[in-house]
Amino acid sequence: MEPWDVTVIGGGILGTSFAYWLAHRYEGRIAVLEKESQVAQHTSRRNTGVVHRPFYLDPIERRVFARSSQVAYGMWKEYAARRGLPWVPVSTFEVATREDAVPRLDKYLQWGLANGMGEDELEVLTPAEVRRHEPNIRCHGAIWSKTDTGVDYPAFTEAMRDEAEQAGARFLLRAEVDSIEVAGDALEIRLAELGGGATYLDPRSRIRVRASRNSAPIRTRFLINCAGGNSIDIAHMLGVGREYTDLHFRGEYWEIDPAWHSLSSRNVYTVPKHPELPFLDPHWIVRADGRREIGPNAVPVPGPFTYRGWIDDPKEAVAKLFERPFRNKLRAVVNPDFVTLASEEWASSVSKRVMADRVKEFLPALREQYLTRPGTAGVRAQVIDRRGTFVKEAIEIVGPRSYHITNYNSPGATGAPAYAAWTVNRLARSGALDHLKAKPAKATGLGDFDAICAAIDATTPEPSRAMAAA
Ligand SMILES: Cc1cc2nc3c(=O)[nH]c(=O)nc-3n(C[C@H](O)[C@H](O)[C@H](O)COP(=O)(O)OP(=O)(O)OC[C@H]3O[C@@H](n4cnc5c(N)ncnc54)[C@H](O)[C@@H]3O)c2cc1C
Repeated sequence: MEPWDVTVIGGGILGTSFAYWLAHRYEGRIAVLEKESQVAQHTSRRNTGVVHRPFYLDPIERRVFARSSQVAYGMWKEYAARRGLPWVPVSTFEVATREDAVPRLDKYLQWGLANGMGEDELEVLTPAEVRRHEPNIRCHGAIWSKTDTGVDYPAFTEAMRDEAEQAGARFLLRAEVDSIEVAGDALEIRLAELGGGATYLDPRSRIRVRASRNSAPIRTRFLINCAGGNSIDIAHMLGVGREYTDLHFRGEYWEIDPAWHSLSSRNVYTVPKHPELPFLDPHWIVRADGRREIGPNAVPVPGPFTYRGWIDDPKEAVAKLFERPFRNKLRAVVNPDFVTLASEEWASSVSKRVMADRVKEFLPALREQYLTRPGTAGVRAQVIDRRGTFVKEAIEIVGPRSYHITNYNSPGATGAPAYAAWTVNRLARSGALDHLKAKPAKATGLGDFDAICAAIDATTPEPSRAMAAA
């Protein structure tokens, strides 16, 4: 079979955004390999569902995520209107639960404006002003981000998949990548065998591929790795990113009894107690469909798909714990701060009361009995470097005939369509997509490609030409 020109691994919101732009920009054979039978089955479904405005992102340290979120906000807003998808601007109060967190609110105001938010979108509030809007909230002050919006990320991903397919991309579902090797001027991808040596297919485009140990590998001229919780393992298959490993944190939620939805009509987040680990503090969330939830916590779990219990496959858990580079994990987990934090998070997983208590800090009227049932948990794959430090931004790694994106964490769903456009543009400029023929430029449902890239690109460094040569 003729090689694919570009193969994307992962049909989450990021991989699907890549397929969308590649198919709209280029002629050529573009495939997405996704191990599940539908797109957005993992983190892109199992998240808080908020389009985050970038007031809490340092415009320098978190520049790429900040710019991507800012640019994607307008893209999602128009896309939701055009496709008739949920768009519920519930807004967010980010509250200071301690006096010493109050100066942070002014900093957030400055960051939001520096990241391109409008003055009318942000307001710093005194405790009394907060109470006027939301009488149940107790805090030392808050910043009100008026345009934070509740959405349905799986619906966005499915819509982008539709349009990517119409533009020529092919989604091969139930296609789990097992190994990848360099073979001359292409890569050879082998898929894990499905139970019974079955075939997998894309029902819409009627592609069938045998997946058995003896079947021919899938060949591709270029690969983009967007495999979320497995992305580091995929990079390691091609011998790159070996300086990194990852730890997994399950974010659990509790649904609130509808009788108590009125406790707050807005999202309530807290200024993080540990700015280096901002994903630790649970929030009060207003979902796009009106449900209220609290969460997520961040419970250490052995693998990217451990949504319940602690270990789904003991053999895999042990292998994952001792995988190389082991030193990174060891440095992170022997840190006494990490041990204390991890035990707090475990406690809120084991005990509903502990979870409720964490939210009562800013919503004292909440009671344990208002938490009716667990919500849908998601897992964050947090990359750790050689020093045992948790890396904040996404990591991009050039590999042989490949580009790997890992540590693509929150607010990754918000920024995905803008970040993917910007990265496709950088790959093109590096020469990595020279084997593809450009299509004539045309307006797309997600907006104007060049304008999106220009808005993110102002001072971000060029990728090396090595990307093309690799
Ligand atoms: C608890 C939690 C809450 C969050 N809340 C928000 C939020 O409110 N707003 C926001 O903007 N961001 C949020 N995020 C972050 C956001 O959800 C992620 O950044 C985003 O979904 C990542 O998308 P992705 O496509 O990279 O990953 P994923 O959605 O995980 O997609 C990766 C895909 O790769 C596939 N895959 C993996 N291995 C293989 C393989 N070997 N072969 C083939 N396919 C493979 C998987 O099946 C999966 O479909 C949250 C994250 C978490 C964990």
